Amino acid sequence: RSFRELGLDSWLEDALRSLSIKEPSEIQQACIPEILAGRDVIGSATTGSGKTAAFALPILQKLAEDPFGIFALVVTPTRELAFQIAEQFRVLGAGVNLKQSVVVGGLDMMTQALELSRRPHVIVATPGRLVDHINSSTDAVNLKRLKFLVFDEADRLLDDTFADDLAVILDQLPKKRQTLLFSATMTEEIKSLNFSSSSKPFTYQC
Ligand code: AMP
Repeated sequence: RSFRELGLDSWLEDALRSLSIKEPSEIQQACIPEILAGRDVIGSATTGSGKTAAFALPILQKLAEDPFGIFALVVTPTRELAFQIAEQFRVLGAGVNLKQSVVVGGLDMMTQALELSRRPHVIVATPGRLVDHINSSTDAVNLKRLKFLVFDEADRLLDDTFADDLAVILDQLPKKRQTLLFSATMTEEIKSLNFSSSSKPFTYQC
């Protein structure tokens, strides 16, 4: 199936072509229509499967349809992954006026706070630094109207080291949202994560 047949607009296909990506990978075929349909998704996927585009493409399409309503938070365990994800959003989102912010440790807090106050469409964050912003007095980050939450490498995020930070983050998010969870391994803990919507999440296992 082509990207168009999965429900994506032609401008996204153009962006994919500029990356020499012509055919959807397996995880993209399975997950893109479900995400476009509004379902929560739990996907088991390793790096190299095309999982980043599997969530970035439908999020970008929804964003283009409603540029003021949609905003996504992608949480990932490392700085390196955060920059890689942001880069894919940047390239794939070249057709829309995408504002995004990478919120990771090691960068200046004030610069980030300023960026966050401009209400980016997409925030890619590591847990610790996002919590620093939530707890800071600047009130820069407002996650109350978020539409998409993505947990990338969810198995690593559910490691004890992140537990407190994730609880603080989840507490800031609206109950009504779409949750997309990708993980290299599929544990019972991941499957039993509390999803926002009442319907059962779509599960993809490769
Ligand atoms: P990821 O699994 O998200 O870490 O992606 C790994 C790499 O595969 C990235 O450099 C993507 O640009 C690339 N990629 C994503 N989707 C496809 C696809 N359908 N065909 C070929 N390469 C892809």
